Amino acid sequence: MEYEYRQIQRPKYDCLLFDLDDTLYPLSSGLAAAVLRNIQDYMIEKLGIEESKIPDLCNLLYKNYGTTMAGLRAIGYDFDYDEYHSFVHGRLPYENLKPDSVLRSLLLSLPQRKVIFTNADKIHAIKALSKLGLEDCFEGIICFETLNPTHKHAASDDEDEIEFLGTNQSNGSSSTYSPRKIFDIIGHCSQTNAVVSSGLPKTPIVCKPSESAIERALKIANIDPARTLFFEDSLRNIQSGKRIGLDTVGKSQRVKVSDYALESIHNLREAIPELWEAEKLAEVNYSGVPLEASVIA
Ligand SMILES: [Mg+2]
Repeated sequence: MEYEYRQIQRPKYDCLLFDLDDTLYPLSSGLAAAVLRNIQDYMIEKLGIEESKIPDLCNLLYKNYGTTMAGLRAIGYDFDYDEYHSFVHGRLPYENLKPDSVLRSLLLSLPQRKVIFTNADKIHAIKALSKLGLEDCFEGIICFETLNPTHKHAASDDEDEIEFLGTNQSNGSSSTYSPRKIFDIIGHCSQTNAVVSSGLPKTPIVCKPSESAIERALKIANIDPARTLFFEDSLRNIQSGKRIGLDTVGKSQRVKVSDYALESIHNLREAIPELWEAEKLAEVNYSGVPLEASVIA
């Protein structure tokens, strides 16, 4: 008696979660450098911050809060989020982003769900994807507005949004400083002699690399971290992703933190060919094994 027994193995991943900036296009496009310049200009022109303080301030805010914007809100600056995003992204050299037909083909040939997860705003995400010719390659976009839905216009909606931060955050935690007084983070960190410091005011903004932000994004998009591969250029975002159970793809070989590393997203097929394997049929041949229920007479 001979028969074949076929066992279906599920592919390891059913969802691919992609960061956008500097992940789906190279750093050499110059967008990241322009974003940094625009943020600094915004801080000087719109918030009246002294130019000499900008480098230290940007560094501390970015390191402690994930984005400069989140840090500015935390230390007491109040501004319109749409205006900030439009100032920072509105003047970017989008012409440097060209349609990427190689990446497009790769993405369209992958059988998994594909979702964008960016700290940037919706307008920037859609514009960048469109310039890259990738606007129809993804099931959805998780962006600033997705994670901060009540903050569209002003800071007065903090109360609704704070709950997303979880872990005993209360409304009081965002008002440990007076809104009229700017928290001196440079002075605070020089006293504690640390770049990343404890005892800082909380930000109402939800963004990577906060683990609660990533968890919130996964919940919104109905993503199981155990079956998802997360593509990121930022080391700390990769570290946070790993802590909540995502497998990760970093962009460089320099630091062996991620599960996979790519020099360029274009090398995806060579680096992770198993992504293209459809349901694997593991064929097992039996001879003369009397498993009646499996025998086809
Ligand atoms: Mg990035």
